[in-house]
Amino acid sequence: MQNDFTFSIIKPNAVRTGKTGPILAMINEAGFEISALKMIHMTLAQAESFYEVHHGRPFFEGLVEFMSSGPVFVMILKHENAIEEFRKLIGATDPAKAEPGTIRKKFAVSVQMNAVHGSDSYENACKEADFFFSGIERF
Ligand code: UDP
Ligand code: MG
Repeated sequence: MQNDFTFSIIKPNAVRTGKTGPILAMINEAGFEISALKMIHMTLAQAESFYEVHHGRPFFEGLVEFMSSGPVFVMILKHENAIEEFRKLIGATDPAKAEPGTIRKKFAVSVQMNAVHGSDSYENACKEADFFFSGIERF
């Protein structure tokens, strides 16, 4: 079924400061089911490849340096209307604009270090999930 899963990353700032558990609890409470999950530390080249769509933007260099600065958790999450529902749960890119009760409102420390990634379309969720997970790692 289209749009029944999304792809997410718990970013280095949140992992480094022990927020993985609380973020996973919020994801669980919101009704998402974990379909795949692992901890990895991206190389700079891997982060550049993942964020290729943002290549050339003024924030690109800082973003890929940050995303390769420490381990992250990558995951595939199942839910009805997963893309939209997860974007609602994480809140706006800029934590100053994120709704109260969202993951970014609680755990982001800046626009760059905004604690979590969530896919913005079904097409990108498929690409992003395939970038990190093989078929036998998905349930
Ligand atoms: N980002 C940044 N500065 C900006 C905009 C974005 O550092 O001005 C970072 C931020 O970590 C964001 C990521 O780049 O999550 C991808 O940006 P996008 O616009 O796709 O935001 P998202 O989809 O993550 O809300
Ligand atoms: Mg995005």
